[in-house]
Amino acid sequence: MHQLSKKILELVDQSQSIVITSHKSPDGDSIGSSLALFHVLKKWGKQVDVVHPDPSPSFLHWVPGQETIIDVETKQELAFQKLQDADLIFCLDYNEPSRVGDSMKNALVESKAKKVMIDHHLHPADFCEIVISETSACSTCELVYKWIKDVNLLDDLDEVSGACLYLGIMTDTGSFRFPSVSAETHEIIGDLIRRGVKHYLIHEAVYDTNTVDRIKLRGFALSEKLVCLNDISVAFASLSESELKKYNYQKGDTEGLVNQILGIQGIKMAVLFVEKDGKVKISFRSKGDYFVNELANTHFEGGGHAYASGGISSESLEKTTEKFVTFVKDFIPKV
Ligand code: 5GP
Repeated sequence: MHQLSKKILELVDQSQSIVITSHKSPDGDSIGSSLALFHVLKKWGKQVDVVHPDPSPSFLHWVPGQETIIDVETKQELAFQKLQDADLIFCLDYNEPSRVGDSMKNALVESKAKKVMIDHHLHPADFCEIVISETSACSTCELVYKWIKDVNLLDDLDEVSGACLYLGIMTDTGSFRFPSVSAETHEIIGDLIRRGVKHYLIHEAVYDTNTVDRIKLRGFALSEKLVCLNDISVAFASLSESELKKYNYQKGDTEGLVNQILGIQGIKMAVLFVEKDGKVKISFRSKGDYFVNELANTHFEGGGHAYASGGISSESLEKTTEKFVTFVKDFIPKV
């Protein structure tokens, strides 16, 4: 057993009240890793809560235990109380306190609880006593599985917690297609299926839930709003707040849209700009010798992985895309 794994197990053993946190704008990996750990720790009879900055998107409402998540956006008082009373806080799938958003950040940092980070993003900040940071891992769910295995507790992993882990691995790997997927990833998936996980139901629950409005919104983005800079193999689309409204936008409606742009033949970098609450949220994806984290970090207050990053802009949607077109050229590999 690795020293770090052992230390985490000891902390869990000693703790009366455990809180599992993850980043803002929850996705399959943040919800999957949080709830998998929640179910396993519950089996050990622990007092455990999941506290997230904001509510889950509706396409993830089926995840077992999702209804127990306390989110700061709708239950701030309870969420902060849980963070304050905790003696152990897991920080899953994020590498720095700002990733939980402004309203939750202080409550997290000021909590006296010991903190454990399990994450696969670059550059982990120094705010946790114990840090498992493996940037080569395909997902935080993979790391949570490896920890459970390392501390010899796989017997506690069942169909329910397994489904949560499957979800995170599936979504963070674009359904097992990214270079971060390893032979070990597939071995883990095999083990989850042996434990009863119905993989086909998870694919259906995540990918076959389109509403007509969602399909129309995505169709609009991919036709009317698509810009292809073919000479540099870059494509992007942008959606304004009024365009979202026109198609009755619901949280999660643009999920994965940027990957469809990356799926255009010959495109090596895809970007989606979405205007929300007066700001522009940006998703970057790339492949091959194109990397996006430096671009996100240098010009759009963000970061992430080499092939999948995010950022934000306080300028207008138009100005933000103009700025992108100007700056992107510096991040194209020289031939
Ligand atoms: P998405 O495009 O799915 O929102 O984000 C892709 C990845 O980029 C996430 O997994 C996360 O690693 C990273 N990311 C997204 N937004 C931000 C941000 O505002 N700051 C940083 N540092 N990383 C981000």
